[in-house]
Order: sequence, then C-alpha cells, then structure tokens
Amino acid sequence: MTIYRGTFVDCPDDPFAGGALRTLTEGAIVVRDGVIVARGPWDVTVADFPDEPRVELTGGLVVPGFVDTHVHYPQLRVIGALGRPLLEWLDKRALPEEMRLADDDYAAEIALEFVGSLVRAGTTSALVFGSHFPGAVDQLFAAAEASGLRIASGLVVSDGVLPEPLLTTAERSLADALGLAERWHGRGRLRYAVTPRFSLSCSDALLAACAETRAAVPGSLFTSHVNENVAEIRQVEAQFGTDYVGTYDRHGLLDQRSVLAHNVHPTDAELAVLASRGSAVAHCPCSNSALGSGMFPLRRHVEAGVRFALGTDVGAGVSFSLLREGLQAAFMQLLMGAEGLRLNAAPLLWLATKAGASALGLSDAGDLSVGQQFDAVWLSPVEGTTLDIALRNAADEGDAVSKVFALGGSSDVRRVWVGGGEVWNRRH
Ligand SMILES: [Zn+2]
Repeated sequence: MTIYRGTFVDCPDDPFAGGALRTLTEGAIVVRDGVIVARGPWDVTVADFPDEPRVELTGGLVVPGFVDTHVHYPQLRVIGALGRPLLEWLDKRALPEEMRLADDDYAAEIALEFVGSLVRAGTTSALVFGSHFPGAVDQLFAAAEASGLRIASGLVVSDGVLPEPLLTTAERSLADALGLAERWHGRGRLRYAVTPRFSLSCSDALLAACAETRAAVPGSLFTSHVNENVAEIRQVEAQFGTDYVGTYDRHGLLDQRSVLAHNVHPTDAELAVLASRGSAVAHCPCSNSALGSGMFPLRRHVEAGVRFALGTDVGAGVSFSLLREGLQAAFMQLLMGAEGLRLNAAPLLWLATKAGASALGLSDAGDLSVGQQFDAVWLSPVEGTTLDIALRNAADEGDAVSKVFALGGSSDVRRVWVGGGEVWNRRH
C-alpha cells in the first residue's frame, strides 16, 4: 500500500451535463494493488494508515492520466510537415514514412520512440493507429507491453488508393489481424483494435473482413477516420453511394467500442447514427488546424448526444500532449462564435481524461475515485518556468487547471503511474 500526498484534481462527471471539477487540496490518495482504496484530507486519512509508505507530490497538480483516443504510431517522425491539406500531406509526407515500417528493425526503433513520447506526455491510455505491416504492429505491442501503458492498436488495412506496398486483400487482412489478436489481445493492458485506414482506401469486401475480424475477437475495439476533409468526403460518397458514417455502419462496425477520428463535417443524420450506436468521436483540434480540415462542431455533438474525447493525431497533430489539444480545442470553439461552446477547466480536463477512458471502454480509469485504477500524472513544472510562476499564483484549483492547459506540455510531466506502477519519472 502507498499513500500519495498532493493536490489532486479530476472531473469524474460529464461537465456538459452538469459535472464539475473535483479538488482535493493537501490531500491523500491511498493505493493498494494499483487501485485507489481511500482518499481524503491528508491529516485525517494518514491517521487511518499510520505505517504505510508515503510519497510526497508537493507543488503542482496531480490529475488522472491522459487518454489519447487517436494517434498514429508510424508518423512520429513526420510531425511538423506544415502547410498541406490532408490528401497532399498523406501523399508527400505520411505515406512515404509509413512504408519504411516494412523493415522490422526500423519499426522497432519507432515503436520505442513512440511509447516513450506517449509516457513523457503523461498519456497513460491510448488508441493507437498501427501500421500496415503486421511485423511493425508486433513491434508496437512489444514496446507497449514493456512500457506499462494501456494500449489498444491493430493492423491498419487498405486495399486501394494507397501505394502498393501498403495494400492488402480481404483474405490476407483477416489472417494477419487474427494472428496479431491471438498474440496480443487481452495480454496485460493490451487490446486489439480493428483498423481500416479510411473508407476511401477500403472496398466493401475489406470492410466486411473487418467486421469478421471483430466478431472473431471479442472485446476488440474498432477505429478509423470519418468526415475529416471536404474533398475526401466527396470522394467517399461517390465511391460508396452513401454518407461517410454509413460506409462503416452498414457493416455493423459501429458500437460502443468504436472510435472515429475527426468528424469535422457530419450531417445531422450521421450524428444521429453515431449517437444511437453509442460510438465515440476523437476530436483532434491541432491536426484539424494543421491540415486546415475545418472547425469541429462540438456543440452539435453535445446536442446530438454523441460521445467525444481528444486525440493528438500525431503526425498531422503537432505534439503528444493532450494539454495542447485541449488548448487548441478551446481556441477553436471561441473562434466559432455562436456555433462554438466555451471550454474552461472542467470540460478540458474531462475531455483529456475521463471522456477518453469512456470512449476506450476503460470504466476503471480516467478519474481518481475510490475503486479506480491509480492512473495519474504529477504535473510539476521546473522551478522558474512561466507555468511554475503561474501555478504558484493561481486563484484556485480551477484557475490552476486552466493555467496548465494554457502553458503546460510534456516537459511539465514529472511522474506518471499506470495501475499504481510508476512508468515515468523525470527525476528533477
Ligand atoms: Zn488520423
């Protein structure tokens, strides 16, 4: 058992439905076997556990581990290719790099860099777009297992549009995916995610094979892209004769374990389908800005009852930090005027933690309640940095959380735990 002492802030309930920040200043959280068994004011709580080891997390804030609901493992090294819209960016930057992962040694190197980047950003759970190459997906799962993070990922499949080395067939995709799922799904904190790249690069036969894979792997997730870019949407509609959400829905791929990235340009009918299926959307505001994809209709998602959370969408996104995604989301919503929703500390923290855990089907993560896994991040900036000054002068914990989103990043992540085990320690 371990008793952690610090200022704990989380947001367990949906702030779009009345939830608020919960703060525990000068508090104690008691963890046994990775699970939070007690929490309360330090003086009172520590009296109940007088002989247990104590960990001081003085200064800064302790928040739930961040959840990244959409991030591409093979794209780490193409972050920062600014100034191109989606289809040109894929062609010139992302896809040439993704083809390099055909080499297992190269993939192993990227996999280590990738999980290292997640953990340094305070991300404790992620739904990761894998690679088109099964060997590269093995490398990712191996690195993820060693890191201690909660990772869902899978083989990315396409059978058209993309360069030939990235293509598969319905039959081969099924065999490759089932092999990977057998090796990794349900092993420790790892889960398999069925992952067609996007409808544009998939035939109906391949999407049907995705449905078959899912049926064969109970508990697997489903993820892909939807409604990201206007030119892309027109092509999908012409190719399938249905709206973009419908291309997945008609194969039965949308349910409560499905996460579709972007959804920047949905119709009301598509939002209604997503709501009725209980599927979630990964909102990736930095990527939407970097590729000029558009302004996310967050208010329409709330009003339609569609679940959503945040994703970094590395490498179209520009960092692994969910703090930065929160800030960009807040900026974009304000710029949308009456069509946007104001995002302050509570919805930002909720979107970066509990909403993401919910989207990924992790009911015991995302907040710091008794009974939950101790997945946590100690945000403690280096002394003298602007965030350090800001936090020492914050009006209250809500103001402190706002300041963390405004100024924080990976360098402010001091220590990270998953299931009570420390997975990162900056050590200064
Ligand atoms: Zn993406």
